[in-house]
Amino acid sequence: MSSVPVAVVTGSNKGIGFAIVRALCKQFPGDVYLTARDPGRGQEAVAKLQEEGLRALFHQLDIDDLQSIRALRDFLKEKYGGLNVLVNNAGIAFKVHDTTPFAVQAEVTLKTNFFGTRNVCTELLPLVKPCGRVVNVSSMVSSSALGGCSRELQQKFRSDTITEDELVELMTKFVEDTKKGMHEKEGWPNTAYGVSKIGVTVLSRIQARMLNEKRKGDHILLNACCPGWVRTDMAGPKATKSPDEGAETPVYLALLPSDADGPHGQFLSNKTVRTW
Ligand code: NAP
Repeated sequence: MSSVPVAVVTGSNKGIGFAIVRALCKQFPGDVYLTARDPGRGQEAVAKLQEEGLRALFHQLDIDDLQSIRALRDFLKEKYGGLNVLVNNAGIAFKVHDTTPFAVQAEVTLKTNFFGTRNVCTELLPLVKPCGRVVNVSSMVSSSALGGCSRELQQKFRSDTITEDELVELMTKFVEDTKKGMHEKEGWPNTAYGVSKIGVTVLSRIQARMLNEKRKGDHILLNACCPGWVRTDMAGPKATKSPDEGAETPVYLALLPSDADGPHGQFLSNKTVRTW
């Protein structure tokens, strides 16, 4: 078994994830795994980094596929006895003018951004070694979508006692409410992406609390963040940040020094803790 530190970035064949891997290859003292659902796109991205003189390793990972997540989990367990850094970056967004029915957009978006990310966490968080760092890439849209929720929902999403099961129930309810055409009446904002990212931010707050309760002495720091508005296939060419600039806050959180005691359980943008 290798004692080399290991970092894993989900959805890193392009965009911000790719830039996070590039930065980690330069700064992380260990093996860096670029992961992708499509091995061809993943290997191509690894080769691109190789041309820049950087060495990333590849492992397949589709966060929508529990078998794929478990295969990565078993690989990390066997080869490294766990992992040191996990960046949950993989995500999707329908374009604004997409005509796919809203209920379908809700189901598909929540499936990857919330349920997929949660499944990765469920399988990989127990493997995170002491002083490990976990970064969940959310979005400022989670904050604006929170503002668009009913008072009752806002209270639930800001609660310091909400459980993961309760959050899953709420995310499931959103999808069901969209199918019944009742989501706005039930206090939800009109954004599937926004609700999925509320899920990611609140999940991060819950997971950080669980780490405090269950692994107090392990000094693991887990946070959610927004990369900013970044020029990628998701956000388009008009966005203000380059992918490397978008990687800065996630990489800052992934590389928090081993003696740092925070941030933990926070939502950050531009390396600054934001009020939730
Ligand atoms: P992007 O260029 O579209 O890249 C998304 C990445 O996620 C791709 O590598 C994609 O792989 C991967 N992915 C999607 N579904 C996946 C799945 N089921 N399993 C594994 N990988 C999957 O988007 P981006 O702008 O870099 O976004 C990265 C993250 O930042 C997302 O979580 C996004 O919500 C968040 N974010 C972005 C912005 C922005 O302005 N760009 C702002 C706030 C937050 P494929 O190539 O196979 O599709």
